[in-house]
Amino acid sequence: MAGGDDLPVVDHHCHLSPSGEGIRAAARFRAAGGTHLFLCTQNYDPGPPRTLDGYAAQFETTLELAHRVRAETGVVVYPVLAPYPIDLATVAAPLGLDAALELHCRALDLAGAWVREHRAIALGEVGWAHFPVDPEIDRRIQAAFGHALEVARDVGCPAVVHGPDLDPAGFEALARRARSIGLPAHRVIKHYTRVRWPEGDRHGVTPSYLARSDTVKSVLADPGPWFWETDFLDDPRRPGAVLDLTTVPRRAQRIRAYRPEVADRLWIPFVESVEAIYGKRPSAAEVTGP
Ligand SMILES: [Zn+2]
Repeated sequence: MAGGDDLPVVDHHCHLSPSGEGIRAAARFRAAGGTHLFLCTQNYDPGPPRTLDGYAAQFETTLELAHRVRAETGVVVYPVLAPYPIDLATVAAPLGLDAALELHCRALDLAGAWVREHRAIALGEVGWAHFPVDPEIDRRIQAAFGHALEVARDVGCPAVVHGPDLDPAGFEALARRARSIGLPAHRVIKHYTRVRWPEGDRHGVTPSYLARSDTVKSVLADPGPWFWETDFLDDPRRPGAVLDLTTVPRRAQRIRAYRPEVADRLWIPFVESVEAIYGKRPSAAEVTGP
């Protein structure tokens, strides 16, 4: 297997905000040894968009941030776009349930079109609420998630799923749902996975593990595919709410320094899994600039 110097260092899920640390956070990621970021969109205004134009503007902001990160730090950015699943619950009050669902599905279509045009690499975050919601709202959120899986199938891209922690039954239900729509289970990625279940208990769904120090040892034993992520929120009002953007490079650095016997396993999240799920093979040589 190849040595460490050409190993890219990939954070599979983060958010950046023009009103947060933004490009400077990506520069810190780069300085810590990071090379590739999966940059997921988010609501940049206090409330979610209430129109399709609002979502288009949100997605444009994400792509603008991606462009600036690449130009100003040299880090390679893979944009991930979708309306956030909980948006539907928020706009249901002012718009009505059915109009909220309609808006959500059109925003998913828009995200899918941008993936097709290679402006983004995947749909995300899609899924359902990680807390109990009104059954009528949940019915629409589930319908929207079904539409998201259909869009991912039609576009031929992965779907990055937001939701509560899954146990084996939850992974099985998610895998079954994806397959019933015609999307292979491995192209469904459970973002913010905090517990490692054996591969058989995941029923083909790909985990993106939160890069907490207490999970490093167990996930390194995972044959993959799997990813590491911080879910960095870049929200100055919530410092320390999630892992810092330098976490993945720092973990990788520590493993290479203190556990060289397992350092080869870093190729699984940083190269092999990205290639298997997204069809792109990240390389440290892609990083440009200072
Ligand atoms: Zn996120």
